[in-house]
Amino acid sequence: DSALYHAKDGGGNRFEFYSELSNAVTLERLALEMDLRYALDRGELMVYYQPKVDLRSGDMVGSEALLRWRHPVHGLVAPDQFIPIAEETGLIVAIGEWVLRTVCRQIRRWCDQGRRFSVAINLSARQFRERELAAVISAALADEGLAPELLELEITESIVMHNAEQAAVILSGLKEQGLSVSIDDFGTGYSSLNYLKRFPVDALKIDRSFVRDIATDNDDARIVAAVVALAHSLGLRVIAEGVETAEQGEFLLSEGCDQAQGYFYGRPVPAEELFKT
Ligand code: C2E
Ligand code: CA
Ligand code: CA
Ligand code: CA
Repeated sequence: DSALYHAKDGGGNRFEFYSELSNAVTLERLALEMDLRYALDRGELMVYYQPKVDLRSGDMVGSEALLRWRHPVHGLVAPDQFIPIAEETGLIVAIGEWVLRTVCRQIRRWCDQGRRFSVAINLSARQFRERELAAVISAALADEGLAPELLELEITESIVMHNAEQAAVILSGLKEQGLSVSIDDFGTGYSSLNYLKRFPVDALKIDRSFVRDIATDNDDARIVAAVVALAHSLGLRVIAEGVETAEQGEFLLSEGCDQAQGYFYGRPVPAEELFKT
């Protein structure tokens, strides 16, 4: 109401009006940041799993781990809302390690049930450039007695391209460890084909913004077809994200796309629900 009061005051107070608005946003963010500091200890974070299917066989061949925050007041907070905060404050390092450990424990449980099943985790920019990354990952795998092939890493195109030379070194290290790496949100940033060829990665994930209209938009259909061809010519697997309809899945299969992920095949769910159909 004080913001309204200033607004009515006329021209001279415009600046104040805007700055109070942005203060409110900042305060809300600050509150979220403080809550996030305790979220881990309070057990409010959870990992959901979304199936990845092989387009040819239709079988579930793996999954992606997606972080969820059950906030005591706001309810479920989307990762897009708190991961940037975690990233800026550095909390992402502890949270990321918690995700890694939680996922490895879950893979162990699935192995014990006779399910050899790979899980992909998302790495943030800060995590990717942590010096301890390789050591943290190998410790987590070793503690659960897991082969590195069971864990996949997803890194966005923009993280990789931000410092491509450095990224190539980090990626080589991860590769040597036997981990497989996918480039996430492919097509949304600037990628240099030259770098793509030199990065030791295993797969490209086509961003869902290209997949959404493939059945109706000729340009998007051609882009997706071209990305599949490009990836295959570089010896990379291709995964399409955000597949919501049978039609999209059929188109992707006809273009030779390898795997797909999306609400059509299954939404992200808690671990216990992944094999219930
Ligand atoms: P992403 O890695 O691109 O993950 C895919 C997002 O698309 C997920 O959103 C997923 O729920 C959503 N999605 C899957 N299928 C469909 C579909 O058919 N239609 C639509 N409209 N959406 C679909 P979510 O779970 O909200 O995660 C958002 C982003 O947050 C992720 O994007 C990822 O960048 C980040 N994120 C999630 N978990 C983690 C994590 O543990 N660590 C880090 N660093 N980032 C994470
Ligand atoms: Ca991802
Ligand atoms: Ca993605
Ligand atoms: Ca994304």
